Amino acid sequence: MFFAGAEATARAAVTLPVSVGIVRQNTVGIRLVLRTAALWGTVATLAACSASISPMRPNARSPVVSDIPEESPKTAGLSDLDYFEEYPLMVPVVGVEPEKVPDTFKQARGGNRTHRATDILATLGTPVVAVAPGKLLRLSNNALGGITIYMLDANGRFLYYYAHLDRYADRLKAGITVRQGDLLGYVGKTGNAPVPHLHFQAMRWDPKRRDYWNGDPVDIRPYFRLSGQERTTRP
Ligand SMILES: [Zn+2]
Repeated sequence: MFFAGAEATARAAVTLPVSVGIVRQNTVGIRLVLRTAALWGTVATLAACSASISPMRPNARSPVVSDIPEESPKTAGLSDLDYFEEYPLMVPVVGVEPEKVPDTFKQARGGNRTHRATDILATLGTPVVAVAPGKLLRLSNNALGGITIYMLDANGRFLYYYAHLDRYADRLKAGITVRQGDLLGYVGKTGNAPVPHLHFQAMRWDPKRRDYWNGDPVDIRPYFRLSGQERTTRP
């Protein structure tokens, strides 16, 4: 069935430009066209971040990070699995459950590269929240990632990168500390994203390197434990 369906979809794609008048009279044809559109949408999504992969240097001077210590001794000896058992990670898009986050880390990208990040599809304007407590290192806008945030987690272990935002949350600025679930911004398609989604990347933090955006990417998806939810209680 799969192959038959794929073939039908392919035929619809081929005949689409010359058969619009016929398709209008044909509900089966309409379904095929819709399926084709959905397929094209998927393809566009998979290629959404073709260039926004690490390394992606911010388009301005690096922030001062001298006040950020090395990873806390209490967590430095932990494996990633143990670390995230102790500090459960939240999905950065509100309303998305951990098991719904797609595996896009190893997807191929242009130039024999791999994505090395996680793309989470969501409606334009869906709230984006902090995956963990941390500190915002940088808010920047660049051609590939669009409106972005670089955030260091509170234990100094991971750098988190959020890209393609539609806009930032009010009063957001570099240097502030955030708690897990704090509103950071909204899902968008700024930069090279043809469809709204969040490009989220975790990189291992090394305080000794100045090009912090080049840290080793870590496939963070298996460690999500909490559904994306905006923190509403304020002290
Ligand atoms: Zn991406």
